Amino acid sequence: MRTAEAEEGSQQRLARVRQEIADAAKSARRPTSGIELIAVSKTFNADDIRPVVAAGQRHFGENRVQEAQAKWPQLRAEFPDVVLHLIGPLQSNKARDAVQLFDAIHSIDRPKIAKAISEEMAAQKRVLRLFVQVNTGEEAQKAGVVPREAKSFVEMCRNDLKLEIAGLMCIPPVDEEPAVHFAFLQKLARDCGVSGLSMGMSSDFEAAIAFGATHVRVGSAIFGVR
Ligand SMILES: *Cc1c(COP(=O)(O)O)cnc(C)c1O
Repeated sequence: MRTAEAEEGSQQRLARVRQEIADAAKSARRPTSGIELIAVSKTFNADDIRPVVAAGQRHFGENRVQEAQAKWPQLRAEFPDVVLHLIGPLQSNKARDAVQLFDAIHSIDRPKIAKAISEEMAAQKRVLRLFVQVNTGEEAQKAGVVPREAKSFVEMCRNDLKLEIAGLMCIPPVDEEPAVHFAFLQKLARDCGVSGLSMGMSSDFEAAIAFGATHVRVGSAIFGVR
């Protein structure tokens, strides 16, 4: 059972994040409408999520297919206009479930996944918005294509698989200045000929907006600590 205070908490935090996005957009001389807020609800349950939907939030992000399957079919039945983004790593054996449940995937990062998603979209007659994840810090433990392969990977998706790529996504290394990575991803996106930029989390979405983020993925600043 959630208390009234807890519900008020996430709604107030959502309002504050929206205001901060609007302020960051203004500073960057960008229209706020060009920035989609994705509320990252991983680890939170349906009772935590409902007040945030009730406050008007429609785009949500999850990082695990299985976890999303446990809560979102019910929530989607209640709120049919919700848009669901998969922002975490994807295994090709989960491609069918992912295409069924999600509207966008931000973690396309290897040919096998791109091919599996392409085949599932055709089989299910669904079109998802797809982002290619770039490992801008070239960290061994992190998913994503290495920067020097981003362009050829995007072109392979387009030309060989006939996939439309909406943009690039990155998660900067925790111990580095995120703005450097955001600037780098912005430049890479231009080289790749894509306009979407999925970057910026609770601690750095304002910097990401300054460098052209079109999708910010904000979890704890809305839902509280995980
Ligand atoms: C968890 C997560 C986020 C949100 O992180 P916060 O710091 O809670 O805002 C954004 N992107 C990805 C890929 C995540 O896994």
